[in-house]
Amino acid sequence: MAYGELDVLKGVDLSVKPGSVTCIIGPSGSGKSTLLRGLNRLVEPKSGDILIDGESILAMKPETLRRRVGMVFQHFNLFPDHTALENVMLSLTKIKGLPKAEAERIAKARLADVGLASRQHHRPGGLSGGQQQRVAIARALAMEPEVILFDEVTSALDPELVKGVLNLMADLGTRGMTMVVVTHEMGFARRVADQVVFMDEGRVVEAGTPEAIFDNPQSPRLQRFLAEVL
Ligand code: ADP
Ligand code: MG
Repeated sequence: MAYGELDVLKGVDLSVKPGSVTCIIGPSGSGKSTLLRGLNRLVEPKSGDILIDGESILAMKPETLRRRVGMVFQHFNLFPDHTALENVMLSLTKIKGLPKAEAERIAKARLADVGLASRQHHRPGGLSGGQQQRVAIARALAMEPEVILFDEVTSALDPELVKGVLNLMADLGTRGMTMVVVTHEMGFARRVADQVVFMDEGRVVEAGTPEAIFDNPQSPRLQRFLAEVL
């Protein structure tokens, strides 16, 4: 994976089981976002391939990929001039091509799932950061993707709002959503992840169960990282 001449990811080989939660941890600039963006083809690999259920995403139509892989960002990326309900409906009508009435039914149900039924007619500006992030999660869920990618989705939130969003994500994990989560929340990674991936300088340095990564780190780089963040 590269930006122009800058090669960012080197020899990354990862697999994610259906229904599992993978957390990606590592220092700033280690390539976590680039890896996640690659899974959604926001960045193209120079070589290698990325498969979903055996099918290369590089050969997939963009609309198909948008449908199959959801993404939630640090800064929500909601449309400011649309209500919560409209934000969730838009991908359903535009990408899935659903009729408006059906999109509205699904959008309302997903907003209710994330605890925002009473806020559906608010615009993002009238919602807290935590509520905006819930709208973004509802929007991703509404598409019924096979996997959802989360990139530091609690990093921009006020501390008191972080827990609610993390609990919602933990809940999704329990309900069998396949998730790849870039996070600085080590407690969340330990508690929720099936697989934890530690990246440094564009490489996967170590990957394993939360117990292996947090209680028995093998590489000095991971040991140093954990000593700094825990
Ligand atoms: P992380 O998410 O782990 O902090 P990133 O994937 O954002 O790391 O960045 C990895 C490397 O790629 C860094 O050296 C960063 O400066 C570089 N990089 C990230 N985004 C871009 C971009 N859009 N253009 C050029 N370089 C980038
Ligand atoms: Mg990042």
